[in-house]
Amino acid sequence: MREGLIIKLIGGRYTVFDLEKKNTRICSASGKLRFIRLDKNSSFLPASNNPLSSKREAQNIKLSPKVGDYCLYEEETIKEIKPRKNKLLRPDIANVDQTILVFSCMEPDFNYSLLDLFLVTLEKETIDAVIVISKIDLLTSWEYEALKNNMVYYQNMGYRIFYISALRKENLDNFFACFTDKISVLAGQSGVGKSTILNVFIPGLSLETQAISKALGRGKHTTRATELYLFNGGMIADTPGFGKIDLKGIRKANLKDLFKEFNEHQHLCRFRECQHVNEPGCEIKRLVENGSILKSRYDNYLKFFDEISK
Ligand code: GDP
Ligand code: ZN
Repeated sequence: MREGLIIKLIGGRYTVFDLEKKNTRICSASGKLRFIRLDKNSSFLPASNNPLSSKREAQNIKLSPKVGDYCLYEEETIKEIKPRKNKLLRPDIANVDQTILVFSCMEPDFNYSLLDLFLVTLEKETIDAVIVISKIDLLTSWEYEALKNNMVYYQNMGYRIFYISALRKENLDNFFACFTDKISVLAGQSGVGKSTILNVFIPGLSLETQAISKALGRGKHTTRATELYLFNGGMIADTPGFGKIDLKGIRKANLKDLFKEFNEHQHLCRFRECQHVNEPGCEIKRLVENGSILKSRYDNYLKFFDEISK
């Protein structure tokens, strides 16, 4: 049996990328592709690999392989799917290693609140985030320096940040390097330049950009099946992710844990269960006052906290 990655799915036909030979082949799924349901979050493991399964608990369910699944195949048949590390719904894809968060510095303006919302969501899903700031050709050198200064805080939190212009093909080399050996999905609000970036990465893809949709007098086409494309030794999905993001599924009491720079200080709060809102002796509030925690981060924390309360 050979190891492959499913990169495309249309009408029950899977395109499998052979991880060793680096070529593709069209396969169908074996009728015996049955797996054990492990937990309520429905992650699937092959029965034979699952030490926890007992006959009584074992619930045979048929698994449908997804784009992003690593598989074992033989001839033209997928025999086994490897355990999934995660799965996204939009786009419908498994084993995402990183989300590339695209924010334009202008048109639309850089949005710190949306950035924090994305970061909280990805912390919850435990998917790595890379921050890309696009359209830097629109900034004066002074504005560019100011923006970079503002972003130092996020850099210190451990996020990688790239400043690019897809239009002028500026600063793309370093950015390219972050795709190697990973499955990546782009995300970001409409108009930030995701389609433009994908068109640069994947020659021949010709995704409609906003400029083109406007010229044609229609909204962008989005109803395509997701496909993974080989890019710089990694795979990138041609469909942007997280079309709409919200705080659904995040409990108020857990929100503070998703602001990861709060974690290392909260043991110094007077109360063990401090929510960093109105409590006296709150270390987080003290750090906001002395400037060690970015005020906009804390304000967004309060804003999200309020939204979840409603
Ligand atoms: P999407 O909605 O995120 O896919 O954004 P698009 O790729 O459709 O881009 C939105 C608009 O921004 C289009 O008019 C693009 O031509 C423009 N755009 C994209 N990248 C750049 C860039 O690097 N610089 C400038 N000035 N405009 C860009
Ligand atoms: Zn506190």
